[in-house]
Formats: sequence, structure tokens, C-alpha cells
Amino acid sequence: MPNPLVLGGTTEATALCRAMAEQGLTGTISFAGRVERPVRQPLPQRVGGFGGVEGLAAYIRENKVTHLIDATHPFAAQMSRNAVEACALTGTPLIALTRAPWQPQEGDDWTRVPDIAGAVGALDCPAARVMLAVGRMHLAEFAPNPQHFYLLRLVDPVQGDLPFPDAHAIIDRGPFTTENDSALMQEHRIDLVVSKNAGGTGAQAKITAARQLRLPVIMIDRPALPDRAEAHDVQSVIDWLVH
Ligand code: NAP
Repeated sequence: MPNPLVLGGTTEATALCRAMAEQGLTGTISFAGRVERPVRQPLPQRVGGFGGVEGLAAYIRENKVTHLIDATHPFAAQMSRNAVEACALTGTPLIALTRAPWQPQEGDDWTRVPDIAGAVGALDCPAARVMLAVGRMHLAEFAPNPQHFYLLRLVDPVQGDLPFPDAHAIIDRGPFTTENDSALMQEHRIDLVVSKNAGGTGAQAKITAARQLRLPVIMIDRPALPDRAEAHDVQSVIDWLVH
């Protein structure tokens, strides 16, 4: 019986664990511990960093992990790099459950930037009303542009002051709909959306809403990752696991 470790924190990881449980497979799901209440999982879970590559390799050995499944967010690059290295060190088979990046469609007005710093640079412009959908961890990096109004959507409230004077935070973990995101953008008179190119369906509503409202989007490209085996759907990962 395989004893997989799933690196989670995404809608895709939750779907994978549900399918594993339904198909009688066991394993453990791992969370970084960034959110106060992770989504309840049908598999046993562990929370917190492993302590770099060496820590993950030690965890794999001590817990007799037979397969590692990297189902983290495409922007969780450090964790994904550590997974590749720890699997090489321990000889553990690795697969990443990934999602294709979003592609611009007819009606989209995207400015693509390579990283968060690029998005900060693109916001060095006259005051605007910005929906900033980059997650809590990166907010401070946007402090150099305090001239804007920022609409934030976060899983947990920010402790202490926000790094800009004019902002409104909505605490919501989704799922989001295009109708609701469109209404939200209109209510807050949003001029511009900043988004990571997460891909997948969980966070797509705001991109569709921006298209419908003809709002420009600053789209942050994904970080580069080392080569690894990848699957794009849950069943492919399960097939890999059992064969
Ligand atoms: P990151 O920068 O790649 O990871 C930083 C460190 O956090 C890792 O080196 C590792 O610590 C720990 N870590 C990350 N994911 C972990 C996991 N699933 N289990 C145990 N430890 C983990 O990651 P991040 O961008 O901060 O994202 C953290 C988590 O949030 C990820 O699990 C990701 O799936 C989820 N998430 C991220 C985003 C995003 O935009 N980045 C969006 C939605 C969800 P050690 O080195 O000590 O092992």
C-alpha cells in the first residue's frame, strides 16, 4: 500500500485527498500553516514547515513516505524546489499536480509582469482604485505606492495596520463567482486588477469579471520551477500512485 505525502494548501490538493479517500487510499496532507483554519480534509494532516530540504528528506525517511505529491500553489516556489531536491536525496518518486496558466482571451487587457516587484513597478502611476489579489504575505511589498485605494480579499484578517492608508479588506476564502466579483468591482469602483497567474478555477472569477467590465489586469507570471513529472488532473495522480 503506498504511503504518499501530499503538499497541499490548494483547491486541487483538497480534491485529490477527497478522491484518494473515496478510492480507499491513505496518506498524509501537509499544510504550511499560513491560514488559521485550513479546509477540513478526509486524510490525516500535519501542519508547519519541514525545515528546508534536509527537514523534508528527514520527514520522508522517518515516516516511510513512498510517494511525494506536490499539489501546492504555482507560486509556492520554495516548497516545490525543496520537494524536487528532497526526493532526489531520498530516491522518492515525485509528481506535481499542476494547472495550466490562464491565457488572455478576446476582451482581456493584460499587462504581464514577471514577478511581484514588476507589479509594484507597474503601479507607480497616478492614483487609481485597485483590486489587489496577491495574498496577505505580499501586501507590504506594495507599500511604495500609497496613492491608490486597495481592495483586498484575504482568507484571514491582517494583524495590525495595513501597509497603505486607503484600503478595504474583505475576509472570504471563496469559492467566488463572476457575478459576485463583478458586483464587488462595481461597488468599489475598481479601475484595475492585480492578480497572480494562478490558473485553475478557484480564483478565476475575478479575471472573468475584469474581462466583462473591460478592466485592465496586471498579471503576474509564475516563478520558474525545476523539471519534474507533472499531472494536470486528480485521476492521473491516483493512477501514478497505484501503478
Ligand atoms: P513557499 O514560499 O514556497 O514556502 C515557504 C516555506 O513554507 C517552505 O520552504 C516550507 O517551509 C513551508 N511550506 C510551504 N508549503 C508547505 C506545505 N504545504 N507543507 C509544509 N510546509 C510548507 O510557499 P508560500 O507561497 O508561502 O505558500 C504557502 C502555502 O500556501 C503553500 O502550501 C501553498 O500551496 C499555499 N498557497 C500559496 C499561495 C501563493 O500565492 N503563494 C496561494 C494559495 C495557497 P520549510 O522550508 O520549513 O519546509
